[in-house]
Amino acid sequence: MKYDFIVVGHGLAGAILAYTLRQQGQEVLVIDEPKADSASKVAAGLVNPVAGKRFAKTWLADAFIPAADAFYSELEAYFGQQLYFHKPIYKIFSSIEEQNTWMAKSAGDGWNEFILGTYTQSINQPAVQDPFGGVLIGRGGYLQVAEMLRLLTEELLAQGLLLPERFEMAQLQLTAQDVKYKNFVARQLVFCEGYQVINNPYFSWLPIQPTKGEVLELEVQNFAPECIYNKAVYVVPVGAGRFKVGATYNWRKPDEQPTPEGRQELTERFSQITSQPFSLVNHLAGIRPAVRDRHPLAGRHPAHAQLHVFNGMGSKGVLMAPYLAQHFAAALISGSEVMPEVNISRYFSLYYD
Ligand SMILES: Cc1cc2nc3c(=O)[nH]c(=O)nc-3n(C[C@H](O)[C@H](O)[C@H](O)COP(=O)(O)OP(=O)(O)OC[C@H]3O[C@@H](n4cnc5c(N)ncnc54)[C@H](O)[C@@H]3O)c2cc1C
Repeated sequence: MKYDFIVVGHGLAGAILAYTLRQQGQEVLVIDEPKADSASKVAAGLVNPVAGKRFAKTWLADAFIPAADAFYSELEAYFGQQLYFHKPIYKIFSSIEEQNTWMAKSAGDGWNEFILGTYTQSINQPAVQDPFGGVLIGRGGYLQVAEMLRLLTEELLAQGLLLPERFEMAQLQLTAQDVKYKNFVARQLVFCEGYQVINNPYFSWLPIQPTKGEVLELEVQNFAPECIYNKAVYVVPVGAGRFKVGATYNWRKPDEQPTPEGRQELTERFSQITSQPFSLVNHLAGIRPAVRDRHPLAGRHPAHAQLHVFNGMGSKGVLMAPYLAQHFAAALISGSEVMPEVNISRYFSLYYD
């Protein structure tokens, strides 16, 4: 059997790309080493169109948000199960200065569709500490990433389209027309390995910065689940009195071990949002594939036309992957150009160095 594509890696990037290619009639074989602490499996799953301390609208939010909404609702219809939960995000001001910065920034800005309200005083939600008010952001929400991956994995396994094992580079053979891997032949191969691309001999020159993140799952009594809350950390209500609290950022020691320091940082920040007592249910760590210029990586290898990469989603894979997978699938199938902001050609000088 000859496939159109082999996709290596079935995290958010590989899973959404493989699904998109299959929806467009392509024959796809996925190879993924199951990994309980992959970035995708530990992610809080948040989508936020207005992020960061500087209150900037997320890059390409106008394109990413509708594509994410459409993709996840299509998946929900396909599997008959809710996976994406729309929720307002309440960004709590930490000071009068921050309130002023927001007021100045938002005046006359063209992002009204994302802002549901601005409050200069507490909105009086049960047990929420917001003395300086905050901004209520719309069009965001969270995805049950691990559950989505479980459903997609089961379907691929049932159809014999997933090898749940580590891809062995030594078994890869490149010919002028195609790629051979063990007994499998495909026209093209796409690497979606997350941060592990740093060990890939064909793409290790890409400037991926493995960035550790830790996240907690807490059980909190009598705490408001109406919104996702944000003040230094995100507090995402995941049902039944449970909340995901994340995340930390650590470039210096990118391993997948949850640490006491991470737990302390997250619980302290959580306690600034509410003084409700809580108990720890789970503590996870994973490694994000961040990129030097904070834009994802998609494109064809400069010397091997059958090899491609789709990676670099950083801390926004849930938001960005659906749009970018659609865009990249078109490039892979019909040869259209990958947009320059994500095209790996912007780093070709590192390959030729
Ligand atoms: C703590 C934390 C919280 C986060 N919260 C959010 C959030 O709220 N919202 C958001 O949008 N993003 C969030 N992120 C970021 C998000 O997780 C990433 O953007 C995204 O998961 C990256 O997906 P990926 O598929 O590129 O990589 P990964 O999830 O790492 O997946 C790569 C897959 O490839 C497999 N693989 C790698 N090498 C091989 C090989 N040689 N052979 C076979 N298989 C291989 C791995 O086993 C894995 O299954 C968070 C990340 C962390 C760590």
